[in-house]
Amino acid sequence: MSPILSKTSFLYGLQCHKYLWTQLHDQKSIPRADAAMQFIFDQGHEVGDLARKLFPDGINVPTDDFAANTRITRENLGGDKPLFEPGISAGNLYCRVDILNPAGDGAWDIIEVKSVTSVKDVNIWDVAFQRQCCENAGLKIRNCKVAYINTRYVRHGEIDPHQLFIIEDITGRVNEYGDTLKDKTDEILDVMGRTQCPEVGIGPHCNAPYECPLQGACWAFLPEHSIFDLYWGGKKRYELFESGVVNILDIPEDCGLNGKQQIQVRCVASGEPHVDREGIRSFLNSLEYPVYYLDFETFSTAIPLFDGTRPYQQIPFQFSLHVAEKREGEVKHYGYLAEGRGDPRPRLVEALRKELGDKGSIVAYYAPFEKQVLSELADAFPSCREWVDGLQGRILDLLKPFSSFYYYHPEQRGSASLKKVLPALTGISYDDLDINDGKLAGVAFMAATYSSDDEQERLKIRHGLEEYCGQDTGGMVEIIKKLDDMTGKEYQNPLPL
Ligand code: SF4
Repeated sequence: MSPILSKTSFLYGLQCHKYLWTQLHDQKSIPRADAAMQFIFDQGHEVGDLARKLFPDGINVPTDDFAANTRITRENLGGDKPLFEPGISAGNLYCRVDILNPAGDGAWDIIEVKSVTSVKDVNIWDVAFQRQCCENAGLKIRNCKVAYINTRYVRHGEIDPHQLFIIEDITGRVNEYGDTLKDKTDEILDVMGRTQCPEVGIGPHCNAPYECPLQGACWAFLPEHSIFDLYWGGKKRYELFESGVVNILDIPEDCGLNGKQQIQVRCVASGEPHVDREGIRSFLNSLEYPVYYLDFETFSTAIPLFDGTRPYQQIPFQFSLHVAEKREGEVKHYGYLAEGRGDPRPRLVEALRKELGDKGSIVAYYAPFEKQVLSELADAFPSCREWVDGLQGRILDLLKPFSSFYYYHPEQRGSASLKKVLPALTGISYDDLDINDGKLAGVAFMAATYSSDDEQERLKIRHGLEEYCGQDTGGMVEIIKKLDDMTGKEYQNPLPL
């Protein structure tokens, strides 16, 4: 029996034949989506439901019953009402269209609903496949469109779907893909029917258009320090890989590595860190005590939750603040984690204002993020504007000594991120934490606040959030101590009394 090609399988196949084959024949070897990925899927469903409000007389075609879906679709294809999720099959092609909208004279428009903020190539392929499927089934398709999120929309009261969505006509772009579509479809159908998993090498396709969940297996053959760890390696990594170079130590000398990459290679060869004491000293000299180590955790949603906010705006719900009054001595910790379903920002601002003194450096790791959060708080609450303006000039970025390679440890594996620097420099790891990255923190907070009825679980998540955010700022304190030790604690500025 020849296989049925759905649009989901078509998109898998477009990205990678091996991934498609594994999805169909060996699904158990695919790791489950993590909480952050699941959140994206769930959000996609919410956006889809909201888009239906654009067509109030639309007919919901059931999606949980294949036979009913096909029957109800068939019964309504002769009508003049928009259809939500009609199932269209033609030969061995099958798709469900998000919205099939009557366009007059028996023709239809395809409207694909996405929670993205611009139309990507993969969306064009997606719609091109749907149009092929619909036309093969005898439907007349007039235009193809994508409804996606308008990031300029600001919520005031009930969500207005007419403002939230941008509907872009992509018919011209879909036409351009027409010539190759049939070949792609045949190729993918051929892969589906194979009894052996096709051999596919690793490449940029492992991350685009989506991060493939099989990377753990496919990339496992790489050595400990592979060329894919090369700092800002970009395309060069793939050029090296194509030429047979896999280990960072085998990179030819004439390959044109920049200064930072050369430091990285030298550190891997020696197993020793690189230390530029002058650079470190210049950074440490820029600190003014008391020093406030600040980190925000945020969440963002496609559909804004609060009045005055935009889609995907970062909404801070937590901060951690370690305060060092002097270069050496006691460090105090303060934190705030929002409770309840209301807008977390007013209380967060209040708590932060209480603890952030009016002088001294504010240290963040990748400071543009903290600066942006503060600036958006000032936009939302104009009475904070003057306070926020006064903070901005005090913010220093602890990323600087590491992105400048004043310090580099081979265990950073080509990254200057806090998650790599902290363990390499201090041995403090994120591995044992329940929540160990920012995306997960936002998703966990959403789950604990908006969907969990289990009090134990809710408390566990909140504890995990406090631990995680606290480690980010406590970690910065430890990093500064290590950097201080490296410079022999010689500072140009006099120590505060
Ligand atoms: S990791 Fe890369 S090569 Fe492996 S299945 Fe995924 S996309 Fe294909």
